[in-house]
Amino acid sequence: MLLKDKLFIAGRWVAPHGRETIDVHNAGNGQVMGRVPAGDAADADAAVKAARSAFESWRNSCPASRAEFLEKISAGLKARADELARTIAQEVGMPLKMSGRIQAGLPIANFANYARILKDFIFEEKTGNSLVIREAAGVAVAITPWNYPLHQIALKVAPALAAGCSVVLKPSEIAPFNAFILAEVVESVGLPAGVFNLVTGYGPAVGEALVAHADVDVVSFTGSTRAGKRISELAAQSVKRVALELGGKSASLILDDADLAAAVKGTLNGCYLNSGQTCTALTRMLVPDSAYEEAKKIAAELAKGFTVGDPLAEATKLGPLSSQAQLDRVRGYIAKGIAEGAELVAGGAEAPEGAPAGGYYVRPTVFGKVKNSMTIAREEIFGPVLSIIPYRDEEEAVRIANDSPYGLAGAVWSKDEARAQRVARRIRAGQVDVNGGAFNMNAPFGGFKQSGHGREAGKYGLEEFLEYKSLQLKG
Ligand code: NAD
Repeated sequence: MLLKDKLFIAGRWVAPHGRETIDVHNAGNGQVMGRVPAGDAADADAAVKAARSAFESWRNSCPASRAEFLEKISAGLKARADELARTIAQEVGMPLKMSGRIQAGLPIANFANYARILKDFIFEEKTGNSLVIREAAGVAVAITPWNYPLHQIALKVAPALAAGCSVVLKPSEIAPFNAFILAEVVESVGLPAGVFNLVTGYGPAVGEALVAHADVDVVSFTGSTRAGKRISELAAQSVKRVALELGGKSASLILDDADLAAAVKGTLNGCYLNSGQTCTALTRMLVPDSAYEEAKKIAAELAKGFTVGDPLAEATKLGPLSSQAQLDRVRGYIAKGIAEGAELVAGGAEAPEGAPAGGYYVRPTVFGKVKNSMTIAREEIFGPVLSIIPYRDEEEAVRIANDSPYGLAGAVWSKDEARAQRVARRIRAGQVDVNGGAFNMNAPFGGFKQSGHGREAGKYGLEEFLEYKSLQLKG
């Protein structure tokens, strides 16, 4: 059992104000794997005060010394990479090997990357008689979800620290242990007290208190569109800067000249990654009418290959979902897809055969003949559920791809690269993969429409934590 009974505030592990705790469940077997404090408004206030006191000297520190801290944090996380991979595999359900590469590997890389970015970043430039300065935006609050828990933390905490902001982190109550490992690393590298603070607890209690706090300047949030809207309302009362990374319902648009087998495989992998609990999951696969039967056959065959099992087992390709609530939600969507008349091509709402007892397992599912108006094509499912939507021609395909309240990601497949790029430019989304182009940690990440606003990653993520100031000079 992982038992955490303290919060990290002002450089020390301190007892929370209240006595309430939160049980954290192991996604693989449903058992309680540990407990963390359920912080409250008093804890939020203590953390913000600590961050405020630390801000002045941190913002005035030189970028090179901040870079040094970021490098040390990256190295400290690296030294605990196996523990991180295992902890997150159990919190979230991602198979262990992949968890090592993605859930532990990406945050380690991102902390180091921000040290590199700092070395080249231009903080001051002249325009006419003005000196334009980029300076730290202030006290930053980071509120993060459970699906890529430490990655999402790193995409906020690393650029905030790089910018010279002091930070209060409120991680997901469903996957909080990785954040404690980060706080232990931060403590071990001797970051000045109050520059980084960790408060755990539920969103409406501690999250809202942080967002509404008068001494907070910036809020960076990743999570559901529902919570994002609430946070925007609260932050508006004191005109705080807010960056929102929300949900998605991304389309994979397979053009009629694409390599169908490669495109379906790439789409299904993108849809089932982390058991579908990925905000950029390619959940709507658009195929030409003429290729529909073949695409359906390929997808059904590939889905069978996603062996469901314990995230720590070697053979597992598809781990469990992260929680009982998530399991109920995803099964509900599968039932709804059937009820609304989609064709069940693979999987279904029943528990997968042979999956470990107590865990939150769901069958890799494929629906055919999906209409874009159906619930399964409109709402974010956050499970391994692919919808195949047939289309008549390129115009209709682009229209369907863009007919969504979301605009986070997408994919386009064609043997003609120029055509693929032309279509990709027409997709209203923050990132579009062309013929399976690889993930790039320096490219801006974020959404259009109800997928949010603001960008994370690379130099674009750093800019979210900086203000412009111009000095009008006389000479
Ligand atoms: P969630 O919105 O329920 O919770 C996210 C975080 O917000 C948690 O820390 C939670 O405690 C906190 N929170 C909840 N309500 C709050 C409130 N009223 N005030 C302040 N904080 C509050 O989301 P989740 O279930 O943890 O994550 C899944 C969702 O996140 C999905 O919709 C997914 O698409 C989205 N997501 C988006 C991205 C992205 O970058 N665009 C990345 C990952 C996840």
